[in-house]
Amino acid sequence: MNKNFKILVVEDDTAVRKLITTTLKAHEYRYDTASDGKSAVMGAVSHNPDIILLDLGLPDMDGVEVINRIRSWSNVPIIVISARSEDYDKIEALDAGADDYLTKPFSVDELLARLRVTQRRLGILHSSSQAESPIYTNGKLSIDYSTGCAYMGEEELHLTPIEYKLLCLLARNTGKVLTHKFITQSVWGSSWENDIVSLRVFMATLRKKLESGEESALYIQTHIGVGYRMLKVE
Ligand code: CA
Repeated sequence: MNKNFKILVVEDDTAVRKLITTTLKAHEYRYDTASDGKSAVMGAVSHNPDIILLDLGLPDMDGVEVINRIRSWSNVPIIVISARSEDYDKIEALDAGADDYLTKPFSVDELLARLRVTQRRLGILHSSSQAESPIYTNGKLSIDYSTGCAYMGEEELHLTPIEYKLLCLLARNTGKVLTHKFITQSVWGSSWENDIVSLRVFMATLRKKLESGEESALYIQTHIGVGYRMLKVE
């Protein structure tokens, strides 16, 4: 099934690029490569990739600028690759519309896992755009958008309006890392330091209602210093 996915690998470091393409080849993905921002933007047009792996530190152009250009006409999923020293850029990249990130040095397993998450999410997007179901389900969690009720199994969750809003935002973006700034802007319409503090509090109570005991962190994953992600539960 990977044969149906074409990945555009944008990386100027030859060794890292080689590691990625070797991994992709071994798992039967198709791929194209680019080693600078300009050819990345061109490649996104001419190769029509399904997923873009984008290194943020490129010789000719800022990775965030590459995302902005691609996002002006395409929703293709973008997974950014950044060094730890580029942490701030990573958050900026997610705010600019990147879907996920990998921090260097990353393992081959991590790379494959991130690709699977994105592929799965693409599957969700395709099926949900066909059906437009008013009910979201993920593992035992379900949300009935038409009535504004959420359930864990048969049990109705008693959520405050803000908790419900947060849950819907995460659910609609399942598999995607949402930054603190993105979430607070979506929920409160602003992004002050205070909102981020409140977000932590609301998130803690929401998780407590969602995940009891051993199911802790099954649905909502924390990305320290970055944001949160709703995981797809099998
Ligand atoms: Ca680089």
